[in-house]
Amino acid sequence: MLTLTYEYKLKPNNRERAIFEDWLEINRKVYNYALNERKAWLKSRSCHVNCCSLQGEYIISADAPRPTYSQQSRSLTEAKKEFPDLRRVQSQVLQQTLIRLEKAFVSMWEQNHGFPRFKKPGAMRSFVFPQLKQEDLSEDQIKLPKIGWVAFRVSRPIAEGGKLKQARIVKRASGWYVMLTLQWDVSVPSPMPHGDALGVDVGLTSFIATSNGLCVKRPKFFVDLQRKLKLLQQRVSRKKLGSNNWRKAQGKVQKLHEHIANARKDFHWKVAHRLCDQAQTIFVEDLNLIGLSRGILGKHCLDAGWGQFFSILGQCCFKRGVYFQKVDSRKTSQICPNCQTETGKKTLADRVHECQNCGYTTDRDVAAAQVVAIRGLAAVGYTVKMLGEGKFIGIPLNQESPHF
Ligand SMILES: [Zn+2]
Repeated sequence: MLTLTYEYKLKPNNRERAIFEDWLEINRKVYNYALNERKAWLKSRSCHVNCCSLQGEYIISADAPRPTYSQQSRSLTEAKKEFPDLRRVQSQVLQQTLIRLEKAFVSMWEQNHGFPRFKKPGAMRSFVFPQLKQEDLSEDQIKLPKIGWVAFRVSRPIAEGGKLKQARIVKRASGWYVMLTLQWDVSVPSPMPHGDALGVDVGLTSFIATSNGLCVKRPKFFVDLQRKLKLLQQRVSRKKLGSNNWRKAQGKVQKLHEHIANARKDFHWKVAHRLCDQAQTIFVEDLNLIGLSRGILGKHCLDAGWGQFFSILGQCCFKRGVYFQKVDSRKTSQICPNCQTETGKKTLADRVHECQNCGYTTDRDVAAAQVVAIRGLAAVGYTVKMLGEGKFIGIPLNQESPHF
């Protein structure tokens, strides 16, 4: 089973645009209501030793069950009788919003994400139709339940034989978009480790470094764009809140945000293709991204967007038949790739790896990438003992002994 997502710019008329806005707002309210219900329940369970739980706490009976998706979904059905506004939106769409909230809680529990927040007006930017049929899709139009046929700009063709599964409507500064998820009933063999292997390390001075010595710098135009963004944000703060001029300035900020996000994505795809040009097997560090972004390096990490880069690299590898795997990232910068001894911690200022044991010297990020490559190869069953001149790890995996 192969699932792909296609994104197209919608061409909604005024009526459709008004419906989208209306639905976003209703979804936002449902989200906030359900979040409030969950918050109230949690509050009613927490009681400090030295204060009376009746004061300032919500009074919810002790045996009230924790609000879950299925229970909230049932109360939604009830609420529809009382609030006719809710009936304007297709019920599955509202249920998806409750699922989204549930997911936010699960990722908080399991992945240490933050507590879900209330969404301010305008903060809800998308909603999903989870069940569509192939008949709902024509060449340049999509039929949305309760809304009807909406035209979109066909910027690229959809591969044949796919079945439409779901559609997400997304609002951006530059307009409305639809993300179509299609499924193909084919089994795609995932690539096996083969050909040349490459280790990838993410760094602060360079965006990434590879085991064969390539260092990709973060493009300079991001710095310029960030500066421009700051300027525009300052302009917003000088306008009267809610005024027409404020709204105009705010629109400019959002447009620039979108532009930066697109430019970053584009850059990530370019780098991913460049890596796939060089190897048939790619290993990357399995970073604890949330842990990293909370640390002192936080701002840099989020700006570089490694999470998105790794996911794009994974997709790119899949498309091009390159084997892709994440490997343990612990101590990659403290081990000598040549002799495997631990060399002690490096500070951020140490730019060069110089082994006291064997004398191997190379760029610090490249050394880390070489450790990643060696670890990855070990994980798929290869032992790598020696690294030659240090510039290149290339291992034809069909040969008995790896060579460089
Ligand atoms: Zn060494």
